Amino acid sequence: MTKHIFVTGGVVSSLGKGLTSASIGAILERRGLRVRMQKLDPYINVDPGTMSPYQHGEVYVLDDGAETDLDLGHYERFTNSPLSRDSNYTSGRIYLKVIEKERQGKYLGGTVQVVPHITDEIKASVRKLAGPDVDVVITELGGTVGDIEGLPFLEAIRQIPLDIGRENCLFVHLTLVPYLKAARELKTKPTQHSVQQLREIGIQPDVLIVRTERPLGRENAEKIALFCNVEKKAVIEEMDKEFSIYEVPVGLVEHGLDQLIVDRLGLQTRPGNMDDWEDLVHRIKNPQHEVTVAVVGKYIEHRDAYKSIYEALDHAGIAHSTRVVVKRIEAEDLERQDPATALAGVDGILVPGGFGMRGVEGKIRACQFARTQKIPYFGICLGMQIAVIEVARNLLGLPDANSTEFAADTGNPVICLLEEQKSVTTKGGTMRLGAQPCVLAEGSLAARCYGVPEVSERHRHRYEFNPDYRDQFTNAGLAQSGKSPDGKLVEVVEIPAHPWFVAVQFHPEFKSKPMQAHPLFHGFIGAALARHQERASNAT
Ligand code: GLN
Repeated sequence: MTKHIFVTGGVVSSLGKGLTSASIGAILERRGLRVRMQKLDPYINVDPGTMSPYQHGEVYVLDDGAETDLDLGHYERFTNSPLSRDSNYTSGRIYLKVIEKERQGKYLGGTVQVVPHITDEIKASVRKLAGPDVDVVITELGGTVGDIEGLPFLEAIRQIPLDIGRENCLFVHLTLVPYLKAARELKTKPTQHSVQQLREIGIQPDVLIVRTERPLGRENAEKIALFCNVEKKAVIEEMDKEFSIYEVPVGLVEHGLDQLIVDRLGLQTRPGNMDDWEDLVHRIKNPQHEVTVAVVGKYIEHRDAYKSIYEALDHAGIAHSTRVVVKRIEAEDLERQDPATALAGVDGILVPGGFGMRGVEGKIRACQFARTQKIPYFGICLGMQIAVIEVARNLLGLPDANSTEFAADTGNPVICLLEEQKSVTTKGGTMRLGAQPCVLAEGSLAARCYGVPEVSERHRHRYEFNPDYRDQFTNAGLAQSGKSPDGKLVEVVEIPAHPWFVAVQFHPEFKSKPMQAHPLFHGFIGAALARHQERASNAT
């Protein structure tokens, strides 16, 4: 019988519920359990695909093409849980399904209501992940207890124990215990209130995970236990981590959370060990080298907009025992100033994905600087299209070269819509999305990085490399080293005469893990490190 863990959050948002849920998944996998991860988001958008990065941060794309919440990135980095469209539901998607059924007459003339119709649909979406090959489903609820829009989800998870037995369910509630400077005290009252609200709805949490910037202490833990009606040992402290998010699973095991969950749910498991997580944390804390990489984007002040990119850079750094210092550069700034000033001293330049005009010319200048100064360049999605435009303008002698996304009537559309995409007018789920195979040219830098001739990577874009210009680019020194198996779509370009210049139409950052850095990020940081060391030795 599959067991269910529900993770809710209280007091404030941004407590790291996604990270904590992913960490719970990680520590249960350590015990030999087969875990499935899921996120329920109360907002009305059907998926985050159409939301601005300012609103939502990164859109995380899965193999099946689902555009999902960025917490699914944490799930994938921390666990081996397979993820699909069923791993992320929003209110909008649940309502859409119910309304479609209503229009088809499936409710046989009944009045369609939040309870039971919406809640039944939510319950079905949770239970869908259960199965003979799954020991535990971990479902994280977005939002904070007390939000109006979260109520149907809370009501649904309240009901699940009635359907499958209370002993098969575990409620974990994540809260904050703030430190008040004036009183020089940690305060437990917000946690008490948050749990009260949950209990009013009919959910008694079994475990409280308490975020705090100072050690909780026995007295506070006992107070929380008493007032929130949970066992003392089920009040788990989660201190702010100084170095890395990858310290969280180790901390939770130190506080006995894995054993507590296993006992409460009556799971048969082997004893776990955290050796490789501990080793990972040790490597993060003790780097041997340091490199600086510029990320030139347009949501640069919004850390979550390029979440997986920053994580993937860290993973590659860990693999090279190197601390990667990221210099975030606003692309538009490079339009007003000489890129040599902003990019002085960097060991690598990365241009990530993006949509729309703003900042494009600045990104092109960053790419030109990397190409001419022989600084390692890594272009991702839009960053690949930028590289193609830059080379067209400056090496092919086509000054008006552009993507039709930015200049619909350019005389040289080196990036454009292919015929079959031109008829698509609706937004949401209409791009080239999800995992696609890519064949790598033998001996190319990309093939050497990956070490295999064919790979599968995830896409999220509309525009493509224009095949009419292939030969011109090859002759100018921009090799097309990755293509779709039918040879029609260009997926990877590189400059063989440059130390490390690789640009890809897909999003490799979604497949990087802390213990398995993505091969292209690994190669990029390796090249940045080589450049850094060479410059250091030239300076002495
Ligand atoms: N805007 C570009 C396109 O739609 C690139 C998208 C991206 O970088 N994800 O093709």
